[in-house]
This record gives sequence, structure tokens and C-alpha cells, in this order.
Amino acid sequence: MDRLLNRVNVSMYDFGLYFGYRDTPEEKEEANRRGIELFQHLQVLPDRHTPKICPVCEVEMGTSSDRTRMLGWRYRCSIPPHHKREATVNTFLERVRLREVGAHTVLMGMYLWVTGVNLSTMISELEIATDTAVAWYSYCRDVANKVAWHELGRIGGPEDVVEIDETHLFKRKYNIGRMNMWRQYWLFGGISRTTKRRFAYNQLGEVFAAHLTVNHSQHFVNPPQDEDPIWIAIGRLSEECVDKTWIGPPPQAGVVPFRIHTNTCERSWRELKKTLQSCNSVDLAENYIGEWMYRKNILDNIQGRTAKFLRFMEDVRRAYPGIGRNPMMADLANCNCHICVD
Ligand SMILES: [Zn+2]
Ligand SMILES: [Zn+2]
Repeated sequence: MDRLLNRVNVSMYDFGLYFGYRDTPEEKEEANRRGIELFQHLQVLPDRHTPKICPVCEVEMGTSSDRTRMLGWRYRCSIPPHHKREATVNTFLERVRLREVGAHTVLMGMYLWVTGVNLSTMISELEIATDTAVAWYSYCRDVANKVAWHELGRIGGPEDVVEIDETHLFKRKYNIGRMNMWRQYWLFGGISRTTKRRFAYNQLGEVFAAHLTVNHSQHFVNPPQDEDPIWIAIGRLSEECVDKTWIGPPPQAGVVPFRIHTNTCERSWRELKKTLQSCNSVDLAENYIGEWMYRKNILDNIQGRTAKFLRFMEDVRRAYPGIGRNPMMADLANCNCHICVD
């Protein structure tokens, strides 16, 4: 396990070596056992020594062996009425059909999600069914969305500039003859020029009918670049916020050029819109936005694939802390998770 997780850039090849051949039922069983062990090491799944408090009795639960269970045991209260709880309750793996594919395959699927591999590559790499892959990616995206909002923190500050902008995108809903029903989404978001942290909200617009062509162009209200910049005192804003396009001496000493524009925001809209192209349901748009925030604000700042993978696993256990603890919600106002409450 250490040999696997101490590498800077763990690869699918390393996972393959670690899990061994997976041709015979015995080999698959062994790979699954190693997968569960790795999940336990990463604390995504509890082991028999992980204390859990019964949510009903509010006392520490014991465990009892049960070969029919996914982990071979489950939690059991020592006092009557002896509540029994699956070890996977409120974990990332609660909804995953672990028996069919094995814990090792789920782990590699999560790793591939972290590295940004697309769905069809994951399906062929892991030889799993399309709906299984779709479900896993949506579970990963769900974690990313929740964590991204928890980690956003305060955006902006006295020396920072936050570009705020809104844009819209259209998704075709259905065709009626030559008419298409289009649904319009408004996106409202911002990005810090210093930290590059970004956020976005989506708002569902009205469904409207239009002919086959739709105007996709956006109109921005940025002032033209050939206009003079605003001059501000040196040190008033961080270096990243100062205009880089100005050539020539400043009109007086001690000032630097500054421009009001949303160029950084527009760039990030383009990335977000690319991400949203694979999102085909209105209800999922929020999670796609969250995934984009998570990748840009968190994963992109971490060097090395192993470190990114370990960070994601840490976030998985924060989002799904197991029995007796509140799961994380994306909506911070209604979240009672241990991070929000503590
Ligand atoms: Zn109990
Ligand atoms: Zn919370």
C-alpha cells in the first residue's frame, strides 16, 4: 500500500500491480479485499476498530461478524434492542454495488475521475457498464460540489479585485416540427484576480420556442481597451490586479494602471461552458458547476496525481463521514455537517 501511495504520480499501471491479476474468481476476490483495505486505510470505509456512536442509543456500538455483509461484519449495539447498522451507512460506498465490480474497480474509477479522464475512457479502462460509470461519476461530482462550496470561503479582500459577470447558455429541450424548445440558463459568477478562486450560480430561465437558429453570442459591457486606464496608487491592489496591457510611462510617479473588465471571468465562462456541454439535465447543472469549481479552485493547486487523489479521498470522507454524523450538503445555509457545526 505504501509503495502505491508514496509515488508522486500514481498511475493505472501502479494500481494494476497493486491489485494483481484479476482473471479468476479467487484473484478478483483478493483484489476486492485489497480495495476494501485501501478504502479503510483512507478512512472512506470504517474498519472494526473505528468507533461509531449509535444515533439512537447514543453509545458506542460494537461489531458482529456476518459473512453475508459487504465487509464481513456490521455494527451492533451491545444493549437491547441491539440495533444493527451496515458499516457502509452514510459512506461514499453506500450506494455502490460493490459486490458486482469489486472495491478495487471503484477505487480506480475514483482515481480516473480525479485525473479528469472522460466517461468513455473509464468504461473501456475498467470494463464496466455505462450506467455504472455514469453513477460513479455523478457520486464523485456530488462530493466535489459539496466540498467546493465549503472550501470557497471568503472571496476578495482589500487588495483584491473580484470580477463579477453574468452570462447565459441555451440547451435544446425538444423539437416540435421545425421549432425547437430552448431552455435558457443564466449563470452568475465571479473570479478573484489574485487567488483565481471562482464561483458560479445557475438560474433556470423560461423555456421558449425558437426557430432552428439561436443566437449564441454574448454581449459584454467591457470598455474598449484603447481607452486610458484608471491610475491607482502603487500597492493599493495586488500585482495580479494591475493592468498589464499599458505600455509607456505613467502620468505621475507612484501610480499603476488599472482597468475594469471581466476578461478573466469570460475565460472562466468558456471553460465552464465546455464542462456543461456533457451535462444533459437541468437538475445536474449545479453539480457540474461544483465540479468545475472543485477542479479549478482545489485540485489544480495540488501538484502530483497521488496528492490530488489523496485530497479527493479526504474530501470523500468529509462529505460522507459514516454512521452517526451528518453528511455534507452543498447548500451551506442548510448544512449541519461537522465542519459547519464545529
Ligand atoms: Zn443503538
Ligand atoms: Zn457543512
